[in-house]
Amino acid sequence: MIEARDLEFSYNGVSILENVDVEFKEGKVNAILGPNGAGKSTLLKCLNGILKPKRGCVYINGSDIRRLKLKDIAKLIGYVPQKNNPVLTTVFDYVLLGRKPYMGFGVGRKDLEIVESVLKTLGIEKLSLKRLNQLSGGELQKVILARALAQEAKILLLDEPTNNLDLKSQFELMNLTRKLAHERNITVAIVVHDINIALRFADEFVFMKDGKIVAKGDRKIVTSEIIERVYDVRVKIKEISGIPVLIYSPF
Ligand code: ADP
Ligand code: MG
Repeated sequence: MIEARDLEFSYNGVSILENVDVEFKEGKVNAILGPNGAGKSTLLKCLNGILKPKRGCVYINGSDIRRLKLKDIAKLIGYVPQKNNPVLTTVFDYVLLGRKPYMGFGVGRKDLEIVESVLKTLGIEKLSLKRLNQLSGGELQKVILARALAQEAKILLLDEPTNNLDLKSQFELMNLTRKLAHERNITVAIVVHDINIALRFADEFVFMKDGKIVAKGDRKIVTSEIIERVYDVRVKIKEISGIPVLIYSPF
């Protein structure tokens, strides 16, 4: 489990996160929702220690991350940023980079086996020798997820991994993420913009606005009132086949 207590963060004196309290539990997909600029990416960066909060603390399984070495944090947290700098390595070598926190002197047999097994789990072993610039958007997102999995992290922080993906690729990625959380007891915190996708695949929800947490909890908190408050749009939520579905409803 990863949690933030009373987190405050500023960029150059401009306050971005205020009084942020969140906890993401094991085996759950936690959707982080909110408009652009709400502080979602900043929160993920504070959770994995890339950014140092001005106040408050981040705990991983009860340990203050300030007491952990970066290499140890890398074994615990797999982070997929919103913007990835494209590299021109092969898929296999890129995923192998996920093993870096474990490597002593070079690549071991176990590292290679783990990379092979992760590629198989995600169904992308056929892409092994392709270069990253030869992949489709959906394939690339799976490869980036594979690298985080090769890290054998128990916590995955995913920043808008479904952006620019077609519908099927979005479903595949969300399904995989959900399976990983539920079957391997991994904690997933994922920023998504599509509330219907979140409602379909996530277990827990956190709404952010202006650097603050507006609401958090299970599906029941996802109401039209909360969406209107957070996004300033008029919506309705209807159940279809037992699944809540959000409908944009300006009139
Ligand atoms: P979100 O991911 O919810 O869209 P971000 O966490 O990226 O929001 O950004 C929150 C706020 O912090 C925005 O107002 C953004 O302009 C500002 N911000 C983000 N990164 C930086 C930076 N490196 N320097 C200064 N301000 C930043
Ligand atoms: Mg962001």
